[in-house]
Amino acid sequence: MRKKLVVGNWKMHGSRAANAVLLAGLKEAGPWNADVAVCVPFPYISETALALTGTAIAFGAQDCSAHEQGAYTGEVSSAMLQDIGCRYVIVGHSERRAYHHEGDQLVADKAKAALAHGVTPIVCVGETLAEREAGRTEEVVKRQLAAVIHTLTHCIGEIVVAYEPVWAIGTGLTATPEQAQAVHHVLRQQLQAASKKADAMRILYGGSVKPDNAAQLFAQADIDGGLIGGAALKAADFAAICRAA
Ligand code: 13P
Repeated sequence: MRKKLVVGNWKMHGSRAANAVLLAGLKEAGPWNADVAVCVPFPYISETALALTGTAIAFGAQDCSAHEQGAYTGEVSSAMLQDIGCRYVIVGHSERRAYHHEGDQLVADKAKAALAHGVTPIVCVGETLAEREAGRTEEVVKRQLAAVIHTLTHCIGEIVVAYEPVWAIGTGLTATPEQAQAVHHVLRQQLQAASKKADAMRILYGGSVKPDNAAQLFAQADIDGGLIGGAALKAADFAAICRAA
């Protein structure tokens, strides 16, 4: 039995004042049966760590460099994330793939760098609407995951996978539980072929998860929690999603 995991991806939202309110709300609403984490903008990680001290809520970042250290202006290494106590880092989010032209191999290299420093990468995969309509969903997510499997080899069992159909992100269009489960099943099979740990690995669903659709999604056999965007910015909504897991 896999323990569910619900992760809030705050994206580029927040302020010191707003974060304090949100985190206080979450502290009051928890604990939950699921593992819960928030991935916050870099400048707020340390303060988030402080605010969450003594709670079961973990925290992390939304990206990391594939490099160890060096002359990479603007980048943040996974060693730094480990240094400030991050449990998780999101890599390969579709917004980074689209707006920062991150390819499959770079995403895999970032996941490898994170694992090397004991930070669990949450590796995002997902198809665009055009790809889904062209019947290419399986091919796309398998290609994205294959790069990570190939790069991490025997460590693949240590990652978290997040299936986020691009067309469902921030659009209010959620994949139906059946649509999501079908892709999660494909990903599970791909992981099973690569790792003995596949059955214990968590595959999260992301894309317009809300309090009123979370339970149905999380009830699917291969959906082990969620990666939550918009609804993670309101304590009551995020707490309700965590309760549903
Ligand atoms: P929304 O929940 O806002 O659709 O965002 C999903 C997402 O991209 C989480 O990483």
